Amino acid sequence: MNFVKGLKCKECGERYEASLRFYCDECFGPVELKFDLAGAVEALGRGSVDVFSSLSLLPEGFKAGSTPLVRAERLGKRLGIQNLYLKDEGASMLSHSFKDRVVASALGMAKSLGIKTIAAASTGNLANALAVQAVDAGMDAVIFVPEGTDYGKIAQAVASGCRIFEVAGNYDDANRLCSEVQEALGWAVVNGNLKPYYLEGAKSLLFEIMALMEDMPPSAIVAPMGGGGLMRMLKKGLDELKAMGMLKEETALYGAQAAGCSPIVSAVKAGTEDISPVKPDTAIGAIAIGDPPDGAYAARAIMESGGKAEAVLDADAMEMLEFLREDEGISTGGAGAVALAAAASFVKSGDIAGDTPVVVILTDGQSKAAREQARPGNVSKIEANLAAFRAIWEENT
Ligand SMILES: [Zn+2]
Repeated sequence: MNFVKGLKCKECGERYEASLRFYCDECFGPVELKFDLAGAVEALGRGSVDVFSSLSLLPEGFKAGSTPLVRAERLGKRLGIQNLYLKDEGASMLSHSFKDRVVASALGMAKSLGIKTIAAASTGNLANALAVQAVDAGMDAVIFVPEGTDYGKIAQAVASGCRIFEVAGNYDDANRLCSEVQEALGWAVVNGNLKPYYLEGAKSLLFEIMALMEDMPPSAIVAPMGGGGLMRMLKKGLDELKAMGMLKEETALYGAQAAGCSPIVSAVKAGTEDISPVKPDTAIGAIAIGDPPDGAYAARAIMESGGKAEAVLDADAMEMLEFLREDEGISTGGAGAVALAAAASFVKSGDIAGDTPVVVILTDGQSKAAREQARPGNVSKIEANLAAFRAIWEENT
């Protein structure tokens, strides 16, 4: 059942019908989905799995959600957090990251529009998530990744045979090229013109946490930040739960970035939503986004919820990977490790009380897919401009 009431501009409030629209004609602000929350609760039941899936635009029986929420007693003891819980998105069944959720919600809309070719810019996780689900949906995926992306990290995308463009420059350059292609060729882009639908899937993560911790809601949720979309949607999820009368206590949102790429953290610390882009200098590729598209909203989400933001050194995050393996037997990616290191520092500084329930989101896991040895045949290296893309695309299609 569909409870979408349409799109609404996040800045000026202008309303639009649900379509391939991602910005407002009046003020160019981003548009986002509005739901008939009361109608959804009445039809599907307050707090039911169905209401949460429907409000996250996830298809019925979506198998990649429902990742484990692990009570991490030993690691908590080590870090001084008495009630530490880990939401392990690395266990997501399709491609080992929370991007499975956002791709599912975006593809639902793409399918209803009869879209055949679907593109995305990615630091890695989104590439795998999109490739796997596009194959299943009978769509052609085209993926833009930054130069130097480890092919092992996009092994599922490579194995799927989809077209991958390795763009000269960093993620921000790849993202810019993907936007130009969307504009010039009229393609559907999951984190472009499908973005309002893409973002909604992330809310399911928040809904799952709150449903699993119904009797002891977390006072703090700590999440890593790259583009800022996840943090933005955790807040939208909290706001919708509140509107449905399902939020018992205030939950504050805490954001974490790598010190070598922390424009959102810098903004929060300065008490502003103005993001000053940086040139990423971190080995943690999944969150190496110097010009985060949702940075301002992520900063707003943290400040409005009463949380904080912190940047951590790559070395401190790497140490967390070892602790996590040793204490809990969990392998996660660098982004989750950054969140964990930040959680430890928030408790140390007293920003989070050590005796309250704390959830840390581990956004991705180690893919078990075989690493590619040779340079894969479906990856083309290109300059970060539309003419270069057109030349290769026209030659090959
Ligand atoms: Zn507007």
